[in-house]
Amino acid sequence: MDVVWPDWRDPKLGARIRVALWLHGEIGEGRRFNKQQLRKAIPDVEQVDRRMRDLRPAGWVIKTYRDMAALSPDELYLEKVGTHVWEPGQRSAGLRSISGKVRRQVMEHDLHRCVRCGISAGEAYPDDPDSTARLTLGHVNPHKHGSTARLEDLVTECARCNETAQHLTGVQLSPEQIWDRIKELSRKEKQKLLSWMAVGHRSLSDTEQVWSRYRQLPAVHRESLQKKLGLLLGADGSDS
Ligand SMILES: [Zn+2]
Repeated sequence: MDVVWPDWRDPKLGARIRVALWLHGEIGEGRRFNKQQLRKAIPDVEQVDRRMRDLRPAGWVIKTYRDMAALSPDELYLEKVGTHVWEPGQRSAGLRSISGKVRRQVMEHDLHRCVRCGISAGEAYPDDPDSTARLTLGHVNPHKHGSTARLEDLVTECARCNETAQHLTGVQLSPEQIWDRIKELSRKEKQKLLSWMAVGHRSLSDTEQVWSRYRQLPAVHRESLQKKLGLLLGADGSDS
């Protein structure tokens, strides 16, 4: 019996379903594709990469060059087709909504800053002062099949690190360029960086932890603390 799949070109289907149908019908398991192909196939959807990532919790295994050395940075590999999300009753497979309570608990635990790069909500990126960070929740292990929305599986991430963690955005700097920057750091900074690399996130200094807490206060309390600290240090701000 021939099975007639819905047409992935049909905009009424919703982006995640269209991406799933396209991957299943046009690419197929065990084959490579790239992001340009995906964007060309489904050009009318913003952030189509994201819709593709949304398939992972539904059992789809889509590898990137970070998982497979044979791929180039722009290539992806469809290892496994997961739940047929276009089928009735399967449409919301893998889509979980995180409760507001869990969201607040995770953000509070992570001091309302990105565990990957340390930025707080609304802060400008040091390397891109025009864009400010938006915090979101990510999975401790973005590739884990069937990741749940449980507290212990979630971490606070800024949107930019979240994208990078899911390994689907373009690389900003080449490894060689990053290595050049690393070499310029002092030995102490290099050691700090190595320890961050080992744990997979940036650990915060005491000052940064206080800063994160301080930033969550209402403006009136921030002002009074600033004044207090100013007085403690003397009006010119110098340490005595
Ligand atoms: Zn970040």
